[in-house]
Amino acid sequence: MTGHDHPDPSCQDDSDPVSLSIDAAWERIRADIEPITTIERVATRHALNRTLAEDIHSQVDVPANTNAAMDGYALRGADLDASGAAVLSLRGKALAGHPFHGMVTPGSCIRITTGAPIPDGADTVVMQERTTVEGDQVSVASGQQPGQNVRQAGEDLARGQRVLARGQRIGVAELGVLGSMGLVEVPVFRRLRVAFFSTGDELRGAGEPLAPGEIYDSNRYTLYAALAALGVEATDMGVVSDTPEALEEAFGAAAGFADAIVTSGGVSVGEADYIKQILDELGEVNFWKIAMRPGRPLAFGNLGGAWFFGLPGNPVSVVATWYQFVRPALCHLMGEEISRPLTFRVRTAGRLRKRPGRTEFQRGRLQRDERGELVVSSTGNQGSGILSSVTAANCFIVLPHDSGPVAAGEYVEVQPLHGMFG
Ligand code: AMP
Ligand code: MG
Repeated sequence: MTGHDHPDPSCQDDSDPVSLSIDAAWERIRADIEPITTIERVATRHALNRTLAEDIHSQVDVPANTNAAMDGYALRGADLDASGAAVLSLRGKALAGHPFHGMVTPGSCIRITTGAPIPDGADTVVMQERTTVEGDQVSVASGQQPGQNVRQAGEDLARGQRVLARGQRIGVAELGVLGSMGLVEVPVFRRLRVAFFSTGDELRGAGEPLAPGEIYDSNRYTLYAALAALGVEATDMGVVSDTPEALEEAFGAAAGFADAIVTSGGVSVGEADYIKQILDELGEVNFWKIAMRPGRPLAFGNLGGAWFFGLPGNPVSVVATWYQFVRPALCHLMGEEISRPLTFRVRTAGRLRKRPGRTEFQRGRLQRDERGELVVSSTGNQGSGILSSVTAANCFIVLPHDSGPVAAGEYVEVQPLHGMFG
């Protein structure tokens, strides 16, 4: 990058009056797609990456018992003197999973380990490091507070409490919480079936030699990874050549079994008419020019009951349109309550090239500068074919429709990529 704005003849029509804003495209997709309603009960572990079909209320208190938050001694808070010290006699022990069944009487204490139930009579735990033990006499150092180091029954989840809501996606924390309630099965919406394929006569598969003009198909790897992380049932339909017969057959087959079809290539101006005819016969598809970069052309519609997302062929456009439209749309289709990706403002370390007329999703890298402040810098060449720019990135820098170039030190919005996966 030179830092200068060279005129770029292929981008002279940036302020296209017929292009659709990102918000408008988003609203159309959201309004058109009716979420699936079929519910199934699956083993809790199989609920990972699925969407809850019902609210989950806890049937139990978590934790089930009031218990020790520290390894040490359980005692009666009333036995502490004014300085918070005490001398007590040791009467037994409680280990996690092995409660002490007796009563902690005035002047006594028991040995206790983290997670063990607090026995009757006791209400306070003193950590081991604040005690000295001689025979069965335990001396507690001053400064202790009655009630300290105790976790109350139900303080995480109270019996009857709504813990998770219908429409919530089950990720790492949610699966752990379901486990903490001892749930065997969970009601979720059924898995989505998503068919995907690449179009383009120039595309070859891994291991094949490349003839002049040919390239390896990367989009199918990108989409495979994105769909796998989302947790849908993805069907790879390979590379479909740019002939009406092959495309018609592929679209027809996909529409026959899939809830959604995601393709790449063939939706740019040069090719749109050609595919449009085929798609018109199978269903209703709109060819949009979205005011974004990368990823301007996007086809969206319905083919015989399957939602269709025709992404541009350029590999970075696939990534951008996946995160901005397809992923949230598929989440919505699988019953999730969705929201727009979280963004926040940081300063840019260097100047960013930008032309008014489209929202740009530049690949950026968030890091601390020498003063320890969070700043973002461009990953370099922002061409829509530079897929390696995404591996160097940890965020999108979102430059709004009307903005021009951004000077070093100005604030920009960023969308972290981390957390969008899965
Ligand atoms: P298209 O949208 O079909 O005109 O393709 C735009 C650009 O993306 C062309 O340079 C294609 O060669 C490239 N392209 C299309 N599909 C893929 C793919 N599956 N993997 C890598 N590059 C692709
Ligand atoms: Mg093509």
